[in-house]
Amino acid sequence: MKHILVTNDDGIESDALAPLADALSACGQVHIIAPERNWSGASHSITLFRPLRCRRTELRDGREAFMTDGSPTDCVRLAVLGFLRQKPDLVVSGVNRGANLGDDITYSGTVAAAMEGVLSNIPSIAISVGAFGADLDFGPASAFGALLARNMLEHGFPSDALLNVNVPPAAADEIDGIEVTRLGKRSYRDQLVERLDPYGNPYYWVGGPAVSEEAEAGTDVAALRAGKISVTPIRLDLTDHDLIARLAGWDWGWSSPVEVTAK
Ligand code: MN
Repeated sequence: MKHILVTNDDGIESDALAPLADALSACGQVHIIAPERNWSGASHSITLFRPLRCRRTELRDGREAFMTDGSPTDCVRLAVLGFLRQKPDLVVSGVNRGANLGDDITYSGTVAAAMEGVLSNIPSIAISVGAFGADLDFGPASAFGALLARNMLEHGFPSDALLNVNVPPAAADEIDGIEVTRLGKRSYRDQLVERLDPYGNPYYWVGGPAVSEEAEAGTDVAALRAGKISVTPIRLDLTDHDLIARLAGWDWGWSSPVEVTAK
């Protein structure tokens, strides 16, 4: 019996947890550990300076789940370090409300939980639906997540990569296919808005809408915009290998030699 950890950075209240757990039940035993509240944008944060609580609860469909006062990454760490009796064979983070595309994945609590799976040598999937709002159908994304899960569990998957999946908010028969993509670019019209609180002290809102630009073919942004499911393999090594060689050519003017060991 395979063990699958499901978490969701939107928190234990997310209505995506039950459909995803349902779909994944065909692949193994599903364990749910999710944060008590919404941690979207939490990235790869962990709790260091206070203890973590983890309480049993039930989803609306009666399914057993656990909720923590920690981050999405904390959920994976708890599970892997012994809260679950068996180390998970697979981590599935999602289904997130809202796409996680391009540069945005550096902010994403959804992708970070999958990264934590990778750091624990567990095959991991981050999965998101490209829409917000109350009445989203998480069925197609959940079914696709289960399809990937079955493939990863049956055929194995490299321990240094995860799959970042974005699914259009459409019925399964209206989705225009599946594309394996690279990360694209996503820009925002971010603004700093300063306002005054009732005591005359300034406070700030930072944010703004995503700007629609021409997306390069082959990117996750373009695939999702074209109504396709985007699957991007992600590695955690952020090293810029070209820059290693260029830095070797700098005049460092430093008393000890500057070593360039990478090829
Ligand atoms: Mn989220």
